[in-house]
Amino acid sequence: MFVQCPTCKQSVEWSEDNRYRPFCSERCKLIDLGAWANEEYRVPAEDEDSLSDAYQLTDSKKVEE
Ligand SMILES: [Zn+2]
Repeated sequence: MFVQCPTCKQSVEWSEDNRYRPFCSERCKLIDLGAWANEEYRVPAEDEDSLSDAYQLTDSKKVEE
């Protein structure tokens, strides 16, 4: 049975010998884990920025009206 490596989309044999399945290699597994970690780290920071932007926009609108 073959599956697609989630990182590089290469066909990988799903076997007991492949300890990194569904990844083709340790490298692809680490890349995928790293991508998740980066995503987790980035999202809260961006949320904070857009929140303060929204507040600023609301404030200046109130002033104009
Ligand atoms: Zn791969």
